[in-house]
Amino acid sequence: MSQKQELHAMVEARQEEMAADLMEMSRIPAVNPRMNGKGEYARMQWIQAYLEKYGIPYDVISVPDEAAPEGVRLNLTVKLPGTEDTERTLWLIGHVDTVNSGDLENWNTDPFSPERIGGRIYGLGVEDNSQAVITALHTCRLVVENKIQAKCNLGFIFASDEETGSAYGLHALLDHGVFSPKDEAIVPDAGSADGSFVEIAEKSQVWLKFTVTGKQAHASMPQLGVNATSAAMHLGVEIEDMLKREFAEEDPLFNPPYSTFELTQKFANVDSPNVLPGKDIFVMDLRILPCYTVDQVMDRIHAVIEKYEKEREGIQIQVEFITRVDAPDPTPSDSDIVTRLVASIRESGVDAYYGGIGGGTCGAILRAHHIPAAVWSTLDELAHQPNEYVVVENLVKDTKVYISTILKYC
Ligand SMILES: [Zn+2]
Repeated sequence: MSQKQELHAMVEARQEEMAADLMEMSRIPAVNPRMNGKGEYARMQWIQAYLEKYGIPYDVISVPDEAAPEGVRLNLTVKLPGTEDTERTLWLIGHVDTVNSGDLENWNTDPFSPERIGGRIYGLGVEDNSQAVITALHTCRLVVENKIQAKCNLGFIFASDEETGSAYGLHALLDHGVFSPKDEAIVPDAGSADGSFVEIAEKSQVWLKFTVTGKQAHASMPQLGVNATSAAMHLGVEIEDMLKREFAEEDPLFNPPYSTFELTQKFANVDSPNVLPGKDIFVMDLRILPCYTVDQVMDRIHAVIEKYEKEREGIQIQVEFITRVDAPDPTPSDSDIVTRLVASIRESGVDAYYGGIGGGTCGAILRAHHIPAAVWSTLDELAHQPNEYVVVENLVKDTKVYISTILKYC
């Protein structure tokens, strides 16, 4: 048996232990303090005790946060030194906080008391992101127990605060100098049911709210008012058409391969069919390929707005960001982490491919610091939903892929 086969057999033999660990840890509430929870502090203590039990050295990075009952948020890092390139670390990153359970009525089981039903474990946060935490812990244990040394360092991060923006988690770790520019990372915080999709890029995500102001009047006497809704509808359509025409570049990494510009939410204006509206508010959802900047797109939008304000007397237009996430440069598809992770998944019999999504993963935080990050996991995409579950077999599948990938760094 090759070393890889031996290690894979060990992973398989651990399936029940991984499931039991996941249930035990997920029983400790870890709802983010900014989502009406008490935070992940207690769950971090469990992970600390776990690492100590197996003699794995770790560092604690605590970040002050008044919103947490303890006054701090904890982050744990494990760094196992490499044999040659110790300036560089391959990280496996999981986050420990969860979202709120939402209305308990929508759950068939108690979200805070994980339950195993067949091949699945149901509970809050079991997929997002206990799956990553437990597979990272077991990968770490197997590496230590089998004295596997890669050429670069191997690192494991158990981070806080992913669900409300990572200010006390990944961002704080970046500020603390945990990462070096040569590092790479696997972030198992999204994925697909067959484990084939490796996310390496995202579009910028922007939600724009347009407020068009005119002057209310009776609809039979339009000359006495300024119709804000008429102006808003023309404006919305003109902006949509202009953006689709001018920002039409395609990138096959993405599905769909082009930027999207969609008029979405519309706010109530007047209560009566015969009132000329004095105000009209609408929203646009923009997902912009990383080949364009958000500023480029905004410059063109502002130009159209100026034209409307000039041409339509009495019309004023305000535009504001409800959300703005600027896409970082994609993780290079020829980086070691992408080629080795994709190769490892393929060896497991899954036809893996890499690509981009419409925006919003924590891989972007690392990419913005020029650290190649691949977001990957095998999961049914149950994050933030009632009756969230994790497929027990996927714990084994993911851990095997991490082991195969690590061996490619040896
Ligand atoms: Zn998550």
